Amino acid sequence: MTDLHQLVIDGELSASATGETFESIDPSTGESFAHVAKAGAEDVKRAAEAARKAFDEGPWPRMRGRDRAKALLAVADGIKKHAPDLAELESRDSGGTIRKAQNADIGMAISTFRFYSELASREDEEEPLLPRSPMSYNYLRREPIGVCAAIAPWNAPLQMASWKIAPAIAAGNTVILKPASFTPLTSIEVGKICLEAGIPEGVVNVLPGPGAAAGEELVASPLVDKVAFTGSTEIGMRIMQIASGTVKKVTLELGGKSPSIVLDDVDLDYAVDGALWGVFFHQGQICSAGTRLFLQRGIHDDFFAALVKRAEELKVGPALDPGSDQGPLVARTQLETVERYVEIGREEGAEVAAGGERATVPGHQGGFYYRPTILAGVNNSMRVAQEEIFGPVLAVIPFEDDDEAVRLANESIYGLAGAVWSRNVPRAVQIAERLRAGTVWINDYHMINPRYPFGGYKESGIGREHGTLGFNEYREAKHIHVDLAGGRDRHPWWNTVLG
Ligand code: NAD
Ligand code: MN
Repeated sequence: MTDLHQLVIDGELSASATGETFESIDPSTGESFAHVAKAGAEDVKRAAEAARKAFDEGPWPRMRGRDRAKALLAVADGIKKHAPDLAELESRDSGGTIRKAQNADIGMAISTFRFYSELASREDEEEPLLPRSPMSYNYLRREPIGVCAAIAPWNAPLQMASWKIAPAIAAGNTVILKPASFTPLTSIEVGKICLEAGIPEGVVNVLPGPGAAAGEELVASPLVDKVAFTGSTEIGMRIMQIASGTVKKVTLELGGKSPSIVLDDVDLDYAVDGALWGVFFHQGQICSAGTRLFLQRGIHDDFFAALVKRAEELKVGPALDPGSDQGPLVARTQLETVERYVEIGREEGAEVAAGGERATVPGHQGGFYYRPTILAGVNNSMRVAQEEIFGPVLAVIPFEDDDEAVRLANESIYGLAGAVWSRNVPRAVQIAERLRAGTVWINDYHMINPRYPFGGYKESGIGREHGTLGFNEYREAKHIHVDLAGGRDRHPWWNTVLG
């Protein structure tokens, strides 16, 4: 029996009130490797009360921004110090390759805390200009919102913990993070690192537990002021509904079916690799993955042949093996979802040009491996082109000209991200500006940076994470008016009441 990974509530580690636990599975083997305290209603209540008290009475919201900034830097340092262990834990718990954990997740977690430290420190200097008037002085003051509930998905748990905690606490809020049940472990570690960094009790709480119970309790709690949710569009809708009961502030980062558009003047080898990176990063389990690949007719056949060849070279293997290009999917249920969608694609008339089946990994028969899959003969109205699969499945769709590319790319309920590949940058920029999506990369993919906003149009979400826009999602805006006119005669509008 391995150690119990505990809840983080009010500055302490604890078991759940009922003593219940759940298992976290290693997707590379399919076997349980950790026991985790399972938060229930009583734990949610305790965490919400602790976060409320820390906000209403504690030092954190009242500290100067520059002092909060120091604590955030200490969290970044803590993540750096624990990087090797965190990367291994992330990789084991989520099935993301160790190369991804080391190169992408750790770095992003550190830079997110550093960037929001920078914004917290600048808060003291901030002087937003409101229109001048000789009769009054008017200024804008930003204040924290209060207790924030953060609900995260399983695909990038360490990054999600950082994306949610850093801006919330930088702005002076307190936070309760509920990680996804498939991947609770590194979120708990980040909570512990926040305590080590000296962040006061109750400011950062972590509650692993089931969404339908612990998650809903949190979203419904009258002690919570804001919900920041990342996950599926379906659950996002549910969150909005529950949060409306107390008119909580809500930000939602939801699903996607992002277009990657390859123009006929492209650098072919570069864009083939780029398209594969865009879709197969983390086995396609990325909200902004480029899952619809639009190829212009002139280059279609050459591009497609190179794409299939390169996809078949990708090595599927255990997450912790540095030689693995692709790890397992996060769970058996996710593997089955992917299989079901590939079947749907076949029934709709798509042709499986690569993959289309489970991968066998010697010595890891219980793991959830699926081969990188490319579907040809897809048209944009098929389910495999419209619904988020969240796995290693690419739908390839031909197009004639720029107008058609834009039209097809925008024919989606989603609008999270997209990419354009071309040697002609002005032409690519024109297309990028016409896409209805929150992020568009030109000649690159997955370039998410804490300095620049990230979020969705349409059913991909509400609000933005990262950047100053993301910071302001965690701050109320208050206008303060100071009368400079003096004198009853200088207030003629009072006459509407006083005559
Ligand atoms: P999910 O919607 O099933 O779950 C997300 C979180 O919500 C989990 O912590 C879950 O326990 C919790 N939850 C479930 N039901 C709940 C309820 N009724 N009330 C409150 N909380 C509840 O999503 P998932 O399967 O964990 O993650 C995959 C999805 O996340 C994909 O759709 C993907 O596109 C999306 N995603 C979006 C982004 C983004 O930034 N836009 C990033 C990563 C993942
Ligand atoms: Mn796991």
